[in-house]
Amino acid sequence: MHKIVKSFLDEVGKRNQNEPEFMQAVTEVAETVIPYIYQNEIYYGQNILLRMVEPERVVSFRVAWIDDQEEIRVNRGYRIEMNSAIGPYKGGLRFHPNVNLSVLKFLAFEQIFKNSLTTLPMGGGKGGSDFNPKGKTDTEVMRFCQSFMTELFRHIGPNRDIPAGDIGVGSREIGYLFGQYKRLKNEFTGVLTGKGVSWGGSLIRPEATGYGVVYFVEKMLEQKNLNFKDKKVSISGSGNVAQYAAEKVTSLGGKVITMSDSSGFILDKDGIDAEKLNFLMKIKNIDRERISKYAEKFPSATYFQNRTPWRVGCDIALPCATQNELQLVDAKSLIKNGCICVGEGANMPTTSDAISLLIEKKILFAPGKASNAGGVAVSGLEMAQNSLRYNWSREEVDSKLKEIMNEIHNSCVKYGSEKNYINYVKGANIAGFVKVADAMIAQGVV
Ligand code: NDP
Repeated sequence: MHKIVKSFLDEVGKRNQNEPEFMQAVTEVAETVIPYIYQNEIYYGQNILLRMVEPERVVSFRVAWIDDQEEIRVNRGYRIEMNSAIGPYKGGLRFHPNVNLSVLKFLAFEQIFKNSLTTLPMGGGKGGSDFNPKGKTDTEVMRFCQSFMTELFRHIGPNRDIPAGDIGVGSREIGYLFGQYKRLKNEFTGVLTGKGVSWGGSLIRPEATGYGVVYFVEKMLEQKNLNFKDKKVSISGSGNVAQYAAEKVTSLGGKVITMSDSSGFILDKDGIDAEKLNFLMKIKNIDRERISKYAEKFPSATYFQNRTPWRVGCDIALPCATQNELQLVDAKSLIKNGCICVGEGANMPTTSDAISLLIEKKILFAPGKASNAGGVAVSGLEMAQNSLRYNWSREEVDSKLKEIMNEIHNSCVKYGSEKNYINYVKGANIAGFVKVADAMIAQGVV
């Protein structure tokens, strides 16, 4: 089997040179899905995985815009339409200087499996730009978003491809993008998700990814007769996912001891309670400041510059910042310090060797494509509400989100149960694969 997987990866690698993040995501899936294909005749000989790793369409375009000093600036925009077997392309837009084809293809590939797991009819896509919103004024961000959408609008649509937010794309950016789409098409449709509640957005969408991660981890803990009460929880990131994961952990009785940004992390030994989290949300979302301000305000906290939080002892770790932020040395340190569970809030935050070690040591490990699927799931619910021209209440959306996270957990258990251990990586990959593969076979070679 090892040889078969290697030969598949060699073939994909040749076609996708200089795309390390994409190959990392493909490798993780291939290692669990190829053995499954060989055990299940209906998938054998269909070259489904080979078809899945090839995007249905990749769009790359120039985004020219004028900054506040009246200088002409040029960025690159992308949309990867990866797979539409089970529904229109769906996945976020990322604005970050390290965005390139490899990063977006890894995210779009992961999105196929994640969207399939949600039980909702959504295909996989992702997009974005190497534009850095940090340090830009609101009007610069608006001009950039308008220029970006002036090209993107011809490739997307409410039944074709429905982008959303991701790193660097929050409610402000979604607003500017939606405004420009509406102006160009003269149509008010659910073409983007993550919209403001007064103009077609869903309640609970901002909270959904963070809440969903915590609901998923709660289910994992339940398998071991454990819960969040009095657990020390280390979170990385301080953006959308991290903030609402922290809020939900605290409401379930856990103690959040760390959060971070790309400059460093804060350790608050007394815990980041609801009031302190409100302050953190203000500095990150409104003032657009650095997390170090938190330690200036609260004496119980210490700031560690240019460091990640994984050397601090905790019971549960929730990486919620970015890809490859939790490495082998970090996994070793977490295990040594008694960590029992790692739940990915970000996409692919844990490196492959770190995942292997966590699984080998039988630490509960939730891959992002399962545990962070709550965001896209509520995006799917936003699309449903847009089509119905109707809004569900907070309670209705939250209970649907919980139900979906339970379903995803059940699927992982179904396909990932091993002797005395649930391998959630294997479970999520196979469960996500099966639904898409069945649809691809039914639809013929296209
Ligand atoms: P935000 O932009 O709101 O926040 C990102 C956070 O991560 C910030 O604290 C940022 O720090 C930090 N960060 C970004 N890049 C790096 C880096 N290279 N090194 C260290 N820290 C970094 O993004 P989200 O919270 O939306 O997304 C976080 C992760 O969750 C991403 O992997 C995303 O793909 C994933 N995700 C998001 C979903 C959503 O609904 N938003 C859905 C599913 C997954 P700083 O403030 O300094 O930039």
